[in-house]
Amino acid sequence: MKAAVIGSGMAGILAAIELKKVGIEVVVFEKASRLGGTWRDNSYPGLSCDVPAHSYTFSFARNPEWSQHYAPGPEIREYFERVADEFGITTCIRFNSEVVSLVWEDTRWKLETSDGFVDEFPYVFAATGVLHHPNVPEFDGIEEFGGAVFHSAQWDHSVPLDGKKIAVIGTGSTAVQITSALVDRVSEFALFQRSAQWVLPAPNPKFSDEERAEFRSDPEAHEEYVRELAITMFQRTSSAVTELNSIEHQKIAALCRRNLNTVVNDDLREHLTPDYEPMCKRLIVSPDFYEKIQRPHVQLVTSGIDRFTSTGIRTNDGTEHEFDVIVLSTGFRSDQFIRPTRVVGVDHVDLDDVWSPTPLAYLSVMVPGFPNLFMLNGPNGPIGNFSLIEIAERQMSYCMQLISELGRSGAQAVAPTAGATEAFEDERRAAAQNTIWMSGCNSWYLDATGVPASWTFSYDRFVDEMNAPDLSAFVLS
Ligand code: NAP
Repeated sequence: MKAAVIGSGMAGILAAIELKKVGIEVVVFEKASRLGGTWRDNSYPGLSCDVPAHSYTFSFARNPEWSQHYAPGPEIREYFERVADEFGITTCIRFNSEVVSLVWEDTRWKLETSDGFVDEFPYVFAATGVLHHPNVPEFDGIEEFGGAVFHSAQWDHSVPLDGKKIAVIGTGSTAVQITSALVDRVSEFALFQRSAQWVLPAPNPKFSDEERAEFRSDPEAHEEYVRELAITMFQRTSSAVTELNSIEHQKIAALCRRNLNTVVNDDLREHLTPDYEPMCKRLIVSPDFYEKIQRPHVQLVTSGIDRFTSTGIRTNDGTEHEFDVIVLSTGFRSDQFIRPTRVVGVDHVDLDDVWSPTPLAYLSVMVPGFPNLFMLNGPNGPIGNFSLIEIAERQMSYCMQLISELGRSGAQAVAPTAGATEAFEDERRAAAQNTIWMSGCNSWYLDATGVPASWTFSYDRFVDEMNAPDLSAFVLS
């Protein structure tokens, strides 16, 4: 038995480990020259994970050594590299090998890569990430700009920053982290804001040597600490986003409002006050953004961008802003998933057609007509302010149960029925009406039809669904 895993980020490493555990031979295809997914691609100053580090850790590879409550990006990348080595995954990875096509042929997938490799696999796991394809807006005149300009996920480390005039376009989680990290290093800093954001204040204490030693020496107590983190974080956040009037939502909203009202001066407060409910966009978590944005050499630019010029940016009010470096912190295309890989399923159906106008999947893990193609962190999963690691682990356990079922029944292929997928999708879209994401803002959560591309039920329901597949929703052949 062998399986192809596409992507060597967190989810790809997880898939490879679980497949190896049950004796399935694994080849991991990675288009880059290094593993790590989002933690490899993103290397911007201030990069960290705003999910607590001990929650953003594999359940089977706890890490007592995290330095801080919210771990810095490079430490997370090193963690994944270490786990991949320890579990013998690094040697299973084909680097610089992008999967360009997957075609279902009878009982297996024919897989082709950009470097000319062709093979067949009974199982394919797409672990290709959600926020992976940079959204680069087409600003007029961008090619005329004489300084450096790059997307936040394509940071050019050869460009000097200290003492320079820096602009950041965007106000998402990334821009806020960059702002906090860069403001005190530069001579002038401008943040171009199209929409104001709600900011949840959250200190980021370092773990002491004693705390780390305790985690190390008492794995049970460490596990209990992780369990408590999960309960407070996931369950509270889950109701807060899926039940608009929940107490959990009101509590988080009150914390954001108090942060804005107590930390920001009167002049700036008006500009930094969003015109939508907290958590409608992905919540920003920051210990110090409001302090940094009020530094004397920092400007919040709220006039729209007219065009780039040779020296900087001209805004719609006619002001010319001069910069050495402009960072496009303009987010990602969240509807791509396995694409641009061409995926052709049963009866020559193209996944691109099935996913037009918007991607769908049964319980986020499988698509009817595409047997044995399993997705981790695929379309419409619980992606908002949760640990994607716990989500991927639950999805992986679900997929492995389906593979076991194939072994038990002697069937070779498993796919969800069109009926079960349609019923799930109808219910999911109906439940979306009551979520915070539809309360009146624009965000990457919304799909091409304006409905949240997310898990619109409770987190508990996700846990229940993933515990054991309902086999009546699948066809085994
Ligand atoms: P984002 O949240 O999608 O933010 C993109 C920003 O760019 C928004 O402020 C958007 O404005 C602005 N923008 C886009 N196009 C623009 C244009 N043409 N002109 C002006 N402004 C434009 O992207 P992100 O900050 O990279 O974060 C994406 C997600 O990555 C986060 O929501 C989070 O899930 C994840 N992330 C997580 C962490 C973490 O610590 N775990 C850190 C960073 C990122 P509008 O709001 O008006 O659309």
